[in-house]
Amino acid sequence: MSATVIDGKQVAARVQEEVAREVAQLKEEGLTPGLAVVLVGDDPASQVYTANKERTARELGMHSVLHKLPATASQDEVAELVQRLNRDPAIHGILVQSPLPEGLDIDAVVRLIDPLKDVDGFHPENVGRLWLGQDGLVPCTPAGVMRLLQEYGVDPKGKHAVIVGRSNIVGKPMAALLLRAHATVTVCHSRTVDLKETCRRADILVAAVGKLQMITGEYIKPGAVVIDVGINPVPGYKRRIRGDVDFDSAAEVASLITPVPGGVGPMTIAMLMANTVKAARLQCGR
Ligand code: NDP
Repeated sequence: MSATVIDGKQVAARVQEEVAREVAQLKEEGLTPGLAVVLVGDDPASQVYTANKERTARELGMHSVLHKLPATASQDEVAELVQRLNRDPAIHGILVQSPLPEGLDIDAVVRLIDPLKDVDGFHPENVGRLWLGQDGLVPCTPAGVMRLLQEYGVDPKGKHAVIVGRSNIVGKPMAALLLRAHATVTVCHSRTVDLKETCRRADILVAAVGKLQMITGEYIKPGAVVIDVGINPVPGYKRRIRGDVDFDSAAEVASLITPVPGGVGPMTIAMLMANTVKAARLQCGR
């Protein structure tokens, strides 16, 4: 292996230390940042994610609440909860865990969240702000990728960044952030022809596809920086996860690479915590 492995756990721990320090300072000034996590239904993965988010916020000194609604909750019930949290002065960040149970419209719920409390950065106002280059709340996973690049001294300016995946939660905001950082950006998706050749032109390759180990060393330009956002179960194993990148063959070619687990994943929750503090500051004019 020739690539340096990016240690997402270490960087995430640093971000969380920064957040804990900021929270302590804000509390001295009489402001306790508050996060409300909303879980609808009993999806096992969502239960783990929401419990982690609620616990991490509490551990960093924030006010933290987990609201659980049954899978049978109606759209109106979810909406009422969000609107109540919008009005709650102790809550600065609201996160509604997706996916919602069938029949519920996540986009409609997100549109109800006060944009200043939208710590996932999914509200159309925050999406617009991101593309307009205005300050706002930025989706956590792509924000985490930018922090990893920064920590490892990768300046996207003038580089060709290729993103595989165009989802609203990863691919598109990732493209906006890399563009803002002056990269030349190509976004690939399931209808892209010549995917391998396009990826091979990337100085920075971000894989956010959801296909186990699809991106092999053959997709990578020698010396490229490879960021693997994918989280995929490995068939035949109960708890094992791997990325969209075939780590072993990619690490032979890349200069820097994120592992899965231990790369981008830990950054997502750390950036959520940072967003909650930012949201508290925005709402209180600090
Ligand atoms: P989506 O399923 O929403 O999007 C996947 C994207 O990949 C789509 O744009 C799709 O194209 C594209 N795609 C699918 N197949 C191919 C293919 N064969 N060739 C090229 N492009 C393809 O996924 P998400 O963006 O939500 O998530 C992507 C991955 O990242 C998942 O593994 C997810 O678990 C993980 N993830 C990890 C996070 C973390 O914290 N580390 C946070 C969020 C997600 P099209 O648009 O044409 O359908």
